[in-house]
Amino acid sequence: MIVDEFIENPKPISGFSNPENHWPDYLALLHLLLIKHGEKKHHMMGFPPEAAENIITLSDKLELKWRLVCGTYAFDYQKQSVSIPQIVLDVLFNAKNGKAGKELIIAKDEDTLDKLDGSVFSNSNTGKILEYSECCIRWFDKNQSTGWEEVYEFIIKNSSGDASTHVEELVEMMYKYYESYNVEDSKKRIQKIKVDHVAESRNTMPFIFFQPCDVCIGPSSPSRKLNEKYANFAKENYPELYKKIIDEAKKDAKAFE
Ligand SMILES: [Zn+2]
Repeated sequence: MIVDEFIENPKPISGFSNPENHWPDYLALLHLLLIKHGEKKHHMMGFPPEAAENIITLSDKLELKWRLVCGTYAFDYQKQSVSIPQIVLDVLFNAKNGKAGKELIIAKDEDTLDKLDGSVFSNSNTGKILEYSECCIRWFDKNQSTGWEEVYEFIIKNSSGDASTHVEELVEMMYKYYESYNVEDSKKRIQKIKVDHVAESRNTMPFIFFQPCDVCIGPSSPSRKLNEKYANFAKENYPELYKKIIDEAKKDAKAFE
């Protein structure tokens, strides 16, 4: 009943929600159902606030537990090709490392949520909490780190000073231009990810939320298997929802091509 109602009248319940299609919303509902049936442990939800409110209402209807879990934030920078001076890295990451924060997490019971208290909300640990494939977590981190190096180079190239003079201003600019289309290298890299990984996986792996890595977009990969597990669960238990996720994901893919 709850599922049929939602299919009929979907609401934004995901950070990926958009007015063009309901793929993220149907998929978020499926992930809540996976939790309800003990097939997955947690779901997380960030902004926007409207979607967070909607997912709380839906979780209550499904008799799931939710909590704003307290933890700390951390960066997962892995050095790639460009040497960002340590003095810059210190200012860049200290703004976030160890900072306290709360994340909305949904689980089957209070015990599961208790275990997450004091979590580190780095990209990699968040990926682990959400049961993403390890190889894809590492690949995502690598991309993010490359982004920091691209934006550092871009700012150094386009400013007159050097890294040691105005570190605070430099870091502020790095945040401002991070993965923006002003940074030519980032633009090219992101465009490639959108086509080869995001659009591709919407068509081939529409039951997972994360971007599959280079290996996982290939055949019989860890992410393919995970997608299959979620797909089979949907097909067996919620065939209408299964169909909707596939159809809406195809629409979502078109937006990235
Ligand atoms: Zn992978």
